[in-house]
Amino acid sequence: DPRLEAISRAIRVVPHFPKPGLSLSSGDRRRRPRFCFFFFFFFFLILCGCWFLGIMFQDITTLLLDHKAFKDTVEIFVDRYRDMDISVVAGVEARGFMFGPSIALAIGAKFVPLRKPRKLPGEVISEEYVLEYGVDCLQMHVGAVQPGERAIVIDDLVATGGTLSAAIKLLERAGAEVVECGCVIGLPETKGQCRLNGKPLYILVGPR
Ligand code: IMP
Repeated sequence: DPRLEAISRAIRVVPHFPKPGLSLSSGDRRRRPRFCFFFFFFFFLILCGCWFLGIMFQDITTLLLDHKAFKDTVEIFVDRYRDMDISVVAGVEARGFMFGPSIALAIGAKFVPLRKPRKLPGEVISEEYVLEYGVDCLQMHVGAVQPGERAIVIDDLVATGGTLSAAIKLLERAGAEVVECGCVIGLPETKGQCRLNGKPLYILVGPR
């Protein structure tokens, strides 16, 4: 699809985010040239490290600024899901909220937000999932989804699949059938969707 290259180009890569980057202090000026050399040397090394380790933050806010790329992204999902009898589009907080509602409106489905703890005001069901360092949790309002409904899960990016796996479990506990998960970006660690219990995963582009 020729639209995918422009979509990929519209995504910005931000090194060292969300961990803070290095900052050059305004300290001793006499030591600055030497400091600058070491700073850029280490910066270069860190960049190489990031490249090897793949820890570059994929920032979709620049995609949202590009009207055509944003529209094409939504349209690709809409074309795929329009005739699949989907009645629930579940979006994962927070960046799944940026694509999910437009897709839901276009395919005639409802939008269900899956949120972090203490954000939803009504009665919720919760699903914890393991992150690299610690655990996190997704919640969904009780009654948002009815048994037998066909659902898709939308997020901006899939890495290990832990977040999508928690989203699938939440929807299935409510009795919905999860047809597929759709993400704009798939990182290489998304190996064989092993954490998605065999659910299909639809990815538009790889990391930049
Ligand atoms: P997973 O659970 O390991 O698959 O991580 C996916 C979740 O982490 C998604 O909700 C993403 O929004 C978020 N995430 C991880 N890395 C990035 C990134 O580089 N850009 C944007 N979101 C990210």
